[in-house]
Amino acid sequence: MDNAKMKKYAELLVRSGGNVQPGQIVVIGCGVDDAWFARMVQECAYDAGAREVIMDWSDDISTRNKFLRADGQVFDEFPQWKIDWYKHYDDRGAVYLRISGSDPDYLAGVDPDRLRRFSKVSGIATKAHSALAMSNAVRWSVIAIPTPKWAMKVFPGLPEAQAMEKLWAAILKGARADGTDPQADWEAHKNNFTQRVDYLNGQNFDALRITTGLGTDITIGLAKNHVWVGGGDLGKDGVPFFPNLPTEEIFTMPDRMRAEGRVVASMPLSRQGNLIEGFEMTFKDGLVESFKAEKNEQTLADIFVMDEGAKRLGEVALVANSSPIGQMGTLFYNTLFDENAAAHLALGKAYPNNMQGGDEMTTEERVAAGGNDSLVHVDFMFGTADMKVVGIAADGSETVFFDNGEFI
Ligand code: ZN
Ligand code: ZN
Repeated sequence: MDNAKMKKYAELLVRSGGNVQPGQIVVIGCGVDDAWFARMVQECAYDAGAREVIMDWSDDISTRNKFLRADGQVFDEFPQWKIDWYKHYDDRGAVYLRISGSDPDYLAGVDPDRLRRFSKVSGIATKAHSALAMSNAVRWSVIAIPTPKWAMKVFPGLPEAQAMEKLWAAILKGARADGTDPQADWEAHKNNFTQRVDYLNGQNFDALRITTGLGTDITIGLAKNHVWVGGGDLGKDGVPFFPNLPTEEIFTMPDRMRAEGRVVASMPLSRQGNLIEGFEMTFKDGLVESFKAEKNEQTLADIFVMDEGAKRLGEVALVANSSPIGQMGTLFYNTLFDENAAAHLALGKAYPNNMQGGDEMTTEERVAAGGNDSLVHVDFMFGTADMKVVGIAADGSETVFFDNGEFI
């Protein structure tokens, strides 16, 4: 991949993604193997007027070593200094940029109990920071870049260099970053969302009935004052940003107490280094009543034991089958891309801005109004090329607004 394209991709993250403003602190989260790209992003952030750019390095191999070899008790601990670290930058209005690029299997074979415990303790410790991010009080943005192991997993059988080149091309295409002016392409992309979002918010459906040829037949109640969102977000300071590059979804808040029926996943779910395959779940009164998976059922079960909210829905998202990622038909083993390939649901925490006035409400108020809360937010794909969605109004009347995998 040529340097000019990568530079444009780095600029896209800084300018369209996080929309870094002059004088702002920028925190870049990145793996050590991708340091060269993180430094490129750092330069772009300084060019955009950043006051200071903080590098927050991680290392998959060290993390794996820790999970395999550290004392068992450390997985129930989270250092206070890291909590203070987040607070320090949150208080100063930092924007968080993350460059994700992992071997999808780096945690394979690690004790799932250690993963579950650490995921819980870090979820509790970083709750204040997550709440700020999920309510757009701090701006954040995530992009992905390929790593050799990731590329070989997505394109098995190819030599490493070729697989890397192919994954770069797929990522830039999927993220609409392969044109001559990606920032302008993203502005146009954003405008395309507006019409659909306005239509759905105008309809104010009470519930959605979603069916697919794979056997999904589920009726999902929508939270009373739900808001459909898509095509970027608005920070609390009024600055627009894109939390995810790519984004192809239009999503809203389900009523945590109302989901009835069966949902069959259309793509595997990569979670903590394990691939959950061939899975489905059945909901009753909004709660997962039963579930099964052909592969890694335990990893799926580990999600549900986090807390009660992990067994309820926090997001329903529609994605047109014709999205660039859907069209590629590639399984990326990476949620950022796979969730934009197909319609999905999320188990766990709902986004406050998917409810009118949700950002100003306390968690308790949102839960009382039907919005789910949990330490987790796990997206899984169920959309297919034959998916149909019927909007059900409060008076029971029905409107088909999505059929054969596309918005009508
Ligand atoms: Zn989503
Ligand atoms: Zn989600």
